[in-house]
Amino acid sequence: MRIRAAVAAGPSQPFAIEHLELDAPRPDEVLVRLVATGVCQTDAHARAGHTPAPSPIVLGHEGAGIVEHVGEAVTGLRPGDHVVLSFQSCGECARCLTGRPSYCDRALAANFSGARLDGSRGLHRAAGTAPVFGHFFGQSSFATHALATERNAVKVDDDLPLELLGPLGCGFQTGAGAVLNTFAVPAGAAVAILGVGAVGFGALMAAKLAGASTVIAVDVNAGRLALAEELGATHIVHATQTDVTAALRDITGTGADYVLDTTGRADMLGHAVASLAPLGQVGLMAGSAAASVAVGGLALGKSLRGIVQGDAVPRLFIPKLARWFREGRFPIDRLVRFYDFDDIDTAFADAARGDVVKPVLRFADAGRQEQE
Ligand SMILES: [Zn+2]
Ligand SMILES: [Zn+2]
Repeated sequence: MRIRAAVAAGPSQPFAIEHLELDAPRPDEVLVRLVATGVCQTDAHARAGHTPAPSPIVLGHEGAGIVEHVGEAVTGLRPGDHVVLSFQSCGECARCLTGRPSYCDRALAANFSGARLDGSRGLHRAAGTAPVFGHFFGQSSFATHALATERNAVKVDDDLPLELLGPLGCGFQTGAGAVLNTFAVPAGAAVAILGVGAVGFGALMAAKLAGASTVIAVDVNAGRLALAEELGATHIVHATQTDVTAALRDITGTGADYVLDTTGRADMLGHAVASLAPLGQVGLMAGSAAASVAVGGLALGKSLRGIVQGDAVPRLFIPKLARWFREGRFPIDRLVRFYDFDDIDTAFADAARGDVVKPVLRFADAGRQEQE
């Protein structure tokens, strides 16, 4: 079928909205008509060439839409189901089989190769023109339609506002999962969150859900810090106006039980370790090749670990997040700003400036098939 998609051709080039051909779903796939899709930092990193993703490619990995067709082997989804699309995994390796799909042995190929795990591609330009890659995070949601599988298409209730829910598939899942899955933060804990973008806000809302007594938001953006306070941060720290380690030690007394770093900055990693309480843990949600830690700083039982996708099993975790949203305890509507799909460049620019926590692209033509 013919679809409209935003093709990323390379760093600093605007997206090109093109008509592409999308194959019918294979037996294990579902065809999803996108209603909306979040924009995540990883999309920007991929466009800039900072991930293994090839180019030109259709990016996008926080899709929300309605199932249109299902392959013959699909048993858990039907046409008409509302779904949130999440990351892809193989389902067969030791990590997947033990419920840790975000650490799948084939995670890079499943999410960043631009193709299915068997190397095939379901997205094409007109015959004779250059290839285009797809299947980004098993979806490529910057398009009117996408192919996904039962592993990464998660059914959500029909009466929820679907256009808001796409970012549950990556950014909000990543932050909330770090708090609730990775660390299982107990009631009463002191949690510091370095960087309150979408991942940081996911962590903040989850820390409140978990009953953390002290929730500290650290950022350089005053607007985001004010919003963090509105959403329940007990303390805010402006990182360019204050020494972060001193501030966190001052607030917590003995140090933070958990520090979640969403920035990937070397200086913030130093603050994270220096402000830990004995037995405290640092979760790294963004990589920084340049950052290093003096291991002596980890004496007293402190630890540090990388976290991918909040250790979530999407089919278990996304319905929980959706339920908490319904109950008003995970207010992602406060964090989203909508853009028309055709304004994707504006959404990326606003996100890069920090003007918006979570841009979400809406498809104006959702509800009818491309007829051109
Ligand atoms: Zn796997
Ligand atoms: Zn993402």
